[in-house]
Amino acid sequence: MTRTILRGAHIVTMNADFDEFVGDLVVENGRIAALVRSGVRAEVARERPGDREIDCRGRTLIPGLVQTHLHLCQTLFRSLADDLRLEQWLKERIWKFEGALTAETMRVSADIGLCELSTSGTTTLLDMGTVHHTDAVGEAVDYSGLRAFIGKAMMDEGDDIPASLRETTAESVRESLALADRWHGAAGGRIEYAFCPRFALSCSTSLLRQVGEICASEGYVMHTHSNETEWEVQEVGRRWQDTNIGYLHSVGLLGPRAVLAHGVHFVDDERAILRDTRSCVTHCPSSNLKLASGIADIPLLWKWGVRVGLGADGAPCNNTMDGFQEMRLAAMIQKPIYGPTAMPARRVLQLATRDGADVLGLSHEVGSLEVGKSADLVLLDLQQPHHGIDGEAADALGGSVYARIVYAARPSDVRSVFAGGEEIARDGVSLKYDTAELHARGRDALTQILSRR
Ligand SMILES: [Zn+2]
Repeated sequence: MTRTILRGAHIVTMNADFDEFVGDLVVENGRIAALVRSGVRAEVARERPGDREIDCRGRTLIPGLVQTHLHLCQTLFRSLADDLRLEQWLKERIWKFEGALTAETMRVSADIGLCELSTSGTTTLLDMGTVHHTDAVGEAVDYSGLRAFIGKAMMDEGDDIPASLRETTAESVRESLALADRWHGAAGGRIEYAFCPRFALSCSTSLLRQVGEICASEGYVMHTHSNETEWEVQEVGRRWQDTNIGYLHSVGLLGPRAVLAHGVHFVDDERAILRDTRSCVTHCPSSNLKLASGIADIPLLWKWGVRVGLGADGAPCNNTMDGFQEMRLAAMIQKPIYGPTAMPARRVLQLATRDGADVLGLSHEVGSLEVGKSADLVLLDLQQPHHGIDGEAADALGGSVYARIVYAARPSDVRSVFAGGEEIARDGVSLKYDTAELHARGRDALTQILSRR
């Protein structure tokens, strides 16, 4: 089996001790076989016939980013729903667009999203699909080489849901179970299934209870939106005389495999339930800012001991799915509130790597560079003009590699991306997708969607 040896990189492991050093990383059978500090003689890092060696001197190696809330089904709708309130954004645009998708146009949407994610350093994701055509998302993820949880959105009740998306409770559960049968553990285990009730206001209590029972007994991830806007919190209170989290808990949806996107508006009783049930929240800073939902109080959630991941959300509510920008924003937006020491750079890189892996129950596979884990790697060039002086020289003078990654790095700094040991992007170019062809397919797909809407 061919090995790949990345030689002489500044390796930022993001392991529990935050070890970082200059050295070699050996990839074998898709996994990290060795990490060797330079100057240490190690037989494993010596070149063998057939090995592929990559000169990484002056480059920085980090774990692939983990995003715990995305919508690949919405990639084509970027720039078609801007500067709107969430209810308008959802009801007047996004739901209608989603309802007009076909299996073919869904595949194009997912392919474009996966191309963007993989060239910009995200290698693991939790996706929420739309009501239909989830197989096309699974096929797209299978092709991409990335690791993903996928799931169809479940919507059986609520105001203004277009006929193209509305389903019965029984249909929603039946189709989700069938998809879970097909996709959970597919692509050699890279794909897992997540049950995705869209949010409390688009689902019947009966549906949520059934999802809670299935996820509790089978161990599936449960992925929903919650506490995103004041409107949603008030509506849930009006309908069920409870807090959003209190209601989701009462129907049995919460637990260590529950991932709730947004969490902008919580009261302490809700934080206590999240902590006690070990439920997770995905912070989506750019989406929350653009839709004016508010600023999720992540330092407070951490203080309560709530598990948190990071995600860009769908392309129409952030307009870029770039994990570096989410990290930068996540750090920046807390500082006017809590002061400049809140959300330090290293903590934020942890949020986007190791914490995301923990949220998805994948700590044994991804989230840090450690022997035995999947070789999901991002090689960065932090010696561009926007990083100032040469990175290693900056470190020697007391600089922080974490600050360079979180505050200054961009997708254009990504030199190589490996997923499961396979190089899928190099110098900003996908090794899987032909961008010109994707653009042409995207244009045709969007024309078709807009004519069907
Ligand atoms: Zn979302």
